[in-house]
Amino acid sequence: MHLTVPLLINPKAGSLFRSGLKAWLDEHRNDFTLVPTSSAEDLTAKARQLAEAGEPVVAAAGGDGTLMNAAQGLVGTNAALGILPCGTMNVFARELGIGSRRFDVALEAIQSGPRHSIDIFCVNDQPFLQMAGFGPDARVVKLITPKLKKHMGAAAHIYTGLKVAVERHPIITVTLPNGEEIQGTQVIMGNGKRYGGEAHLFANARYDDGLLDAAIIQQESIPILYEILSCMLQRGATHSNTSEFTQLRTFESCEISAEGKLDYQLDGDYAGTIHPGETATIRRLPDKLRVCVPRSFVPGTPLEKFMAHPMVEAWRTLIRRAREF
Ligand SMILES: [Mg+2]
Repeated sequence: MHLTVPLLINPKAGSLFRSGLKAWLDEHRNDFTLVPTSSAEDLTAKARQLAEAGEPVVAAAGGDGTLMNAAQGLVGTNAALGILPCGTMNVFARELGIGSRRFDVALEAIQSGPRHSIDIFCVNDQPFLQMAGFGPDARVVKLITPKLKKHMGAAAHIYTGLKVAVERHPIITVTLPNGEEIQGTQVIMGNGKRYGGEAHLFANARYDDGLLDAAIIQQESIPILYEILSCMLQRGATHSNTSEFTQLRTFESCEISAEGKLDYQLDGDYAGTIHPGETATIRRLPDKLRVCVPRSFVPGTPLEKFMAHPMVEAWRTLIRRAREF
């Protein structure tokens, strides 16, 4: 049976054109009913209305942030989220095997793929799909200006990363349900394996096991970056491949506090600051989110994957700019 699926879309988003989705949709008019949205709140409200009206699939076009807004409206309902990944990184769509900007794979998943129920975790009641970062990585996304991003693309992360690396970072305390306290300067939590683009940070994470995977890094400045990169170069951290400076844990909930002001990011966007004396609570929502996933994995070649990786693209941009200078 052919499904005509409501598609939540911001008709003014530049990513529609950059990603090629606009042109692709022109050729797939019969597959979708476009539902224009005007803001994040509007998108969440419309997703909820469509689910309550009995739609089996509600699709959304966008990056991880937009998908999170749709997920907030759909979590706990019977409607499955269909994903047309047209953002910059599309980490969540990659995690599900749809990949980045592969709209034909996305359509196949919506029309005939299985539905998976996945965990949603939140920080102080603010949910995230893929990852949460506390410390320098959140500083980086907070300090990146739109102008810098426009000028340098993904290389803006490296430039800002080097600036943040030389700052002094507050000591973070993670308290687990069993009372164990672990301290570090950078804490990353993952619902899935990926941290940015195709880079795996957690080798064994699963988005449906009810647990959050976390890396607590006990280093200062540049070595923090080294710890993260070495995890990614090994296709994800395990207890046997990490250094003594990276602690790995899995848990259903935890609390986070810090001795100084601590910024955090959710799915790659700056989300808030925890002040000294405050505690952030990380917990799993009681309801799961249903998502449309491909029937089977559709890989690109390893070289294509490597060259398309945002970090590799970023380095190439940096090298090119350095040569032009
Ligand atoms: Mg998990």
